[in-house]
Amino acid sequence: MPDTIFNKIIDGDIPCHKVYEDDKVLAFLDIGPLSRGHTLVIPKESAQTLDQLSADSAAAIGRVLPRIAQAVLSATGARSFNVLQNNGADAHQEVMHVHFHIIPKYDDGAGLGIGWKAGALDASEGAELAKRIADQCRREA
Ligand code: AMP
Repeated sequence: MPDTIFNKIIDGDIPCHKVYEDDKVLAFLDIGPLSRGHTLVIPKESAQTLDQLSADSAAAIGRVLPRIAQAVLSATGARSFNVLQNNGADAHQEVMHVHFHIIPKYDDGAGLGIGWKAGALDASEGAELAKRIADQCRREA
């Protein structure tokens, strides 16, 4: 597993503006915020992408994400936010340690800009694809 800047933050070798910590999870302010209050929530477990993360660490993050998001909203006054989670360099992941961005969205537009070019799901292709994914889900459970 490559050593990343987030491992150094977890180990206390690099400082951060910490907002939350428990035995499995750390959250801190993003050093290059898209908007005020932009926060990163990371597992202490070293996993590069979400699909590689243990169920235990995933559950630990899932348990606290809503609370941290509420805290970010309360502290900033923002009323909307995006949760962004990039996996892989092609999907804009720069730090190869799983992380969830909580990005407040403000009335002036500050926050995450999203390009969303929606297609149309073909019914028979959708049925076939859903079956393949469902089969994999059963296999990996
Ligand atoms: P991603 O493109 O999803 O991998 O996002 C990585 C994020 O980590 C970026 O938003 C960076 O600004 C942020 N980041 C990188 N180094 C640090 C650091 N030392 N402290 C806080 N945030 C960081």
